[in-house]
Amino acid sequence: MVLAAFWVGVAAVAQAPLASPPHTTVVVFADHPQPAGEWPSLFAALRGSIADAAAETQAIDINAEVIRGDLVVPGLQVDASVSVYLHGDCNLEPQSRRYSSGVTLGWVTRVHGSIDPFIHVDCTRIGQVLGPPNFALNRDQRNAVMAEAIARVILHEWIHIATQSPAHGRHGMTKAQFGVNDLLPNRDQLVARLRGPR
Ligand SMILES: [Zn+2]
Repeated sequence: MVLAAFWVGVAAVAQAPLASPPHTTVVVFADHPQPAGEWPSLFAALRGSIADAAAETQAIDINAEVIRGDLVVPGLQVDASVSVYLHGDCNLEPQSRRYSSGVTLGWVTRVHGSIDPFIHVDCTRIGQVLGPPNFALNRDQRNAVMAEAIARVILHEWIHIATQSPAHGRHGMTKAQFGVNDLLPNRDQLVARLRGPR
């Protein structure tokens, strides 16, 4: 799985000044085909979450480019890359179990003290945390809600990578634990915008 990351070449670049992070390319891979309409929703959600995270920390490149891993051209050269792996079921559909706290929604790994630029996201667990109130939504709304939650988890982990710090904050994207309100801070607006037939 991690092999896929080697499709993206990391070009040697001069050290960027601290205030401006290197131009980052985020490459998103999915274990399973995404539901129809989920990719555009995820890209839109990531744009919003990147802006929110960049407001919290200068370490996040607000102009980061996001691309699908399955559409990466071999030999692509980038300044810096972050690879995201979506695991499990990214369909927001009724599930038999529901978790509310203490589950791992996303993770990064630290090797020899350095946090690798690989983000893992557990879509199934995210769906379980979002829970029944979101299962009754129409397809567009479910895509948007799931995409928003995935994007928030990605940005949480990305901040660990960008700052090279495992530290957590008390508020916002860096909180150690995400509940439904952290995953979907603007749920009502999101859902209202996509109101339509089921
Ligand atoms: Zn964390």
